[in-house]
Amino acid sequence: MTNETWGEIREQLQKRLGKNNYSTWIEPLVFAELTDGVAQFEVPTSFFGDWVRRNYGDHIRKLLISSGLGVERVDFTVNTAPRTATKPAVAEPAPAAKAPTRAKAMRSRAADEDLPGAPLDARFTFDTFVVGKPNELAHAAARRVAEGGPVSFNPLFLYGGVGLGKTHLMHAIAHDLQSRRPDLRVLYLSAEQFMYRFVQALRDRSVMDFKELFRSVDVLMVDDVQFIAGKDSTQEEFFHTFNALVDQNKQIVISADRAPGEIKDLEERIKSRLQCGLVVDLHPTDYELRLGILQQKADQYRDQYRGLVIAPGVLEFLAHRITTNVRVLEGALTRLFAFASLVGREITLDLTQDCLADILRASDRKVTIEEIQRKVAEHYNIRLSDMIGPKRLRTIARPRQVAMYLSKQLTPRSLPEIGRRFGGRDHTTIMHGVRKIEELMATDSQLSDDLQLLKRLLQA
Ligand code: ADP
Ligand code: MG
Repeated sequence: MTNETWGEIREQLQKRLGKNNYSTWIEPLVFAELTDGVAQFEVPTSFFGDWVRRNYGDHIRKLLISSGLGVERVDFTVNTAPRTATKPAVAEPAPAAKAPTRAKAMRSRAADEDLPGAPLDARFTFDTFVVGKPNELAHAAARRVAEGGPVSFNPLFLYGGVGLGKTHLMHAIAHDLQSRRPDLRVLYLSAEQFMYRFVQALRDRSVMDFKELFRSVDVLMVDDVQFIAGKDSTQEEFFHTFNALVDQNKQIVISADRAPGEIKDLEERIKSRLQCGLVVDLHPTDYELRLGILQQKADQYRDQYRGLVIAPGVLEFLAHRITTNVRVLEGALTRLFAFASLVGREITLDLTQDCLADILRASDRKVTIEEIQRKVAEHYNIRLSDMIGPKRLRTIARPRQVAMYLSKQLTPRSLPEIGRRFGGRDHTTIMHGVRKIEELMATDSQLSDDLQLLKRLLQA
């Protein structure tokens, strides 16, 4: 791209975004280069880059495409040698220094060698992955694969809900393998891209090339494999690729949003193949993990904005309140720092509540006692009326206590309030029930599994 084109695009951005946004966020961008479908811009700070990526990245990309450029992604890297802000000149001199940028240094080998892989995100490394109870197994398995030693389980199948770190771990494996074993051909792509390439090969009558290419890699990683469910010819091709690589003892890593057996419209033979290796589940985050992730992010931001103060308790508050997924958590913190630095204020609890009101409202747990009673009754196959009724039979009293326990855990209701919803029981009865379950949980693994499942169902 010439700087002239960028000049024109900037004019369009100014019209679309308004003068203020334009001069704050677009004017300081310096176009660096366009290679392999990635348009690189230099930005003054990484926060700045994050902000522009989130808010305007798509606008910019679309405008670049509509001016005829093959752009798959726009990327923002921090410009280490500060440059004087440029005027929105139509023809400015080409930027002289092209310091090797982080994104460039980390570009996947796949792209360099014309493997049809997706670009790797330079931020998704093992260093930046916070390990906690919910993800420790997945992390350990990913580390093992990243060593590039003899294949000990194939495939590695990672699954879990949105935003729990599947893609992060896969990129981390690819980064690590690239530096540890540069001799290996590592291919990372999403299942959607796999399908797209396959369809393209069908259209171009180059299926043999496609097959050859995919069978020539040493490590194949396919992200979000649930995507190919129900897409018959792609599934078929995936199955053959998969088998060919396993036969050659090449490592395969797969991710999905659920366990292999639970993916609807996926062929049985594929399901059973996927279950042959190591299937690991990324559990929903717990409080400690969320706090750890927030602390890591906050440390990065603190380096970036010297002088920005974050009051004690703010991170704890966020870890407690935003339980949905890590992406939302990160977004919240980014917005908070952006806001605080714009207004030049300390990040206090008040500021946090103002700035994040919408996110906090959306992640409020809205589980009700009635829902809990209904789900628990269903799970243990008892009548809903028995939840509040007087029966003392163990087969009924125990589920009732489970419901009491969950009501205490998942709702903000007090013990007397809970008592009222359980047929007017006394608060000491509720307390006894809660304690009983806590006690049993430690020794009764069936019960603790039940509780985990119920919690997950109720919070979904
Ligand atoms: P998924 O692919 O499971 O939907 P991602 O890997 O895209 O989730 O993660 C979403 C965001 O959360 C990414 O920015 C990622 O870096 C971050 N993230 C998730 N888990 C962790 C973790 N354990 N430590 C640090 N960052 C994490
Ligand atoms: Mg993902």
